[in-house]
Amino acid sequence: ITQKIKELEKMALLDPLTELANRRYIELNIQTKLDEMRRYGKPFGILFVDIDHFKNINDFYGHEIGDKVLTMVANTFMKNVRASDIVGRWGGEEFIAIIPNINEAQLYFTANKLRVLVEQSGFSLNSGIVQVTVSIGATLALLKDTAETLLERADKLLYYSKANGRNRVSIDQSMIQDSLHAKN
Ligand code: GH3
Ligand code: MG
Ligand code: MG
Repeated sequence: ITQKIKELEKMALLDPLTELANRRYIELNIQTKLDEMRRYGKPFGILFVDIDHFKNINDFYGHEIGDKVLTMVANTFMKNVRASDIVGRWGGEEFIAIIPNINEAQLYFTANKLRVLVEQSGFSLNSGIVQVTVSIGATLALLKDTAETLLERADKLLYYSKANGRNRVSIDQSMIQDSLHAKN
């Protein structure tokens, strides 16, 4: 019985394919982090990540390889963030990372590090090496934020990264200029 409950708990908060936190867990955790920020002044930021041209991967290699790419990207994130960071699958080929105790420069550095690590990872098939890149929107939580406004802002910055050529990080106004030029 306890085993069964544990399995159910796991299923309720984990994404079965990647074994990352699922959307529900991410939503709950953002709520908690917003409360902690207001109560104890603990800052945090989020990264909204979307795989570039992922549809092409599915179309070219098939859905199974597509799934393998999702797992690869998930593992790259998991292996390269701190234990206190939370990485989850938001849906499809979208991921969210929640990074506590961080300032804007560190958030940008972390996002860019993850971007480069994804760019450099891949696996081989007979037909060649499968590689993808990601676009990222990065933003710090503000005192006035709700989960919704925070996610909205990160999503806009992600869209900005897409519009400016993909495989890049965009962070709030002050650093958008940098994100346009600093590809590495
Ligand atoms: P963009 O760079 O603008 O993000 O382009 P994109 O092709 O990544 O974006 P689009 O939203 O057009 O396509 C996302 C694709 O992700 C379409 C869908 O078939 C695929 N997808 C969503 N979930 C899964 C999944 O669980 N497994 C696999 N293999 N593919 C998935
Ligand atoms: Mg998408
Ligand atoms: Mg995409």
